Amino acid sequence: MEFMAPEEEAKLIAEFNKRFPYKVELHVHLDGAVRPETVIDIAKERGMLESLPHKNVDEFNRDVIVTKPSSLEIMLRSFGYFMPIISGYKNAVSRIAYEICEDCAKHKIKYMEVRYSPHLFASSVTDPEFEQTPGSFTPRDVVQTVNEGLARGMKEFDVKVNSILCCMTNRPDWSKEVLELCKEFKDQGVVAIDIAGQEFEPGKHYDDCEMKKVFREAAKCGIHRTVHAGEIGTAKAVQEALDDMLAERIGHGYHSIEDPDLYQRIIRDQVHLEACPISSIMTKACEEDHMKHPLREFVKHGVNYSINTDDPVVLGNTLTDDYKFAQDMGLTDNDIIRGIFNAARSCFASDEDKKKIIKELTKIYGPH
Ligand SMILES: [Zn+2]
Repeated sequence: MEFMAPEEEAKLIAEFNKRFPYKVELHVHLDGAVRPETVIDIAKERGMLESLPHKNVDEFNRDVIVTKPSSLEIMLRSFGYFMPIISGYKNAVSRIAYEICEDCAKHKIKYMEVRYSPHLFASSVTDPEFEQTPGSFTPRDVVQTVNEGLARGMKEFDVKVNSILCCMTNRPDWSKEVLELCKEFKDQGVVAIDIAGQEFEPGKHYDDCEMKKVFREAAKCGIHRTVHAGEIGTAKAVQEALDDMLAERIGHGYHSIEDPDLYQRIIRDQVHLEACPISSIMTKACEEDHMKHPLREFVKHGVNYSINTDDPVVLGNTLTDDYKFAQDMGLTDNDIIRGIFNAARSCFASDEDKKKIIKELTKIYGPH
């Protein structure tokens, strides 16, 4: 996203908060939502600033934000700039979780499901793609720390944030532990399992039987499932996610549209598609001409869609920007509100919380 002057941004947020005073967001990555200021602060705190190519927020944004349509690979590469700074460091993980609650309040996101890989924030395991310093901060410590940060933030900013734990496509060996953590923290705000990372071509994507087994086991244990699929990959990946991994929601899912049978099934069964409009253009998951964006088709055909940010720190967006972008592609306020109701009905909150959210939404927007 191009840079917007602070006054202009504040005006946009105020306007959209007035029109949409209760938002629900289902697809955002915790590591992808860290504030640039926080990364710089943490780098200072850890004595890492000297060795970094970016010494302040402007330089950070210059290096990290993807400003023109490129690829999912390039977007994921941006994480390499800051993950080594925040990973394995308890203060950072706790602060990021707390701050996402404050950011929710700023944009009137009253219910959010935030996702993350416990392994990517840990230091007891390290990802070969990032130069992390090995340490003793385990994936389990990460979940506990995120929960602690979220609890503080939720209390302070009066928002509700549940979490989804991500398996990574390039690390099937982490999946079993992710499932175990989902089970252990099921009653403490961890509501679902996901798989994120680079999406491969069908046949290669989730052909790892271990991964499929983990998702089926999750279903057996009453753990909700969402799967990144059909973002840059084809409709086949979405079909595999539904049939082999028992996904209840699909992260992105734009390319479902290319398989008429699958698309009809998604409409008929009201499978929820977590659309991330700005992200989809920047990763070239969708065509740059936003008047051809699949979200327009989703609205027209009665698909169960929602509007989300994905990775604000690397895209330079907020949920307000994504709503504005949806409006620019021709969605009406009613279409956007429909997306909020869809998100509320397809969220993984407890039945009781869900009822409360839908009741609030109906009070504000009328029945949808
Ligand atoms: Zn995502």
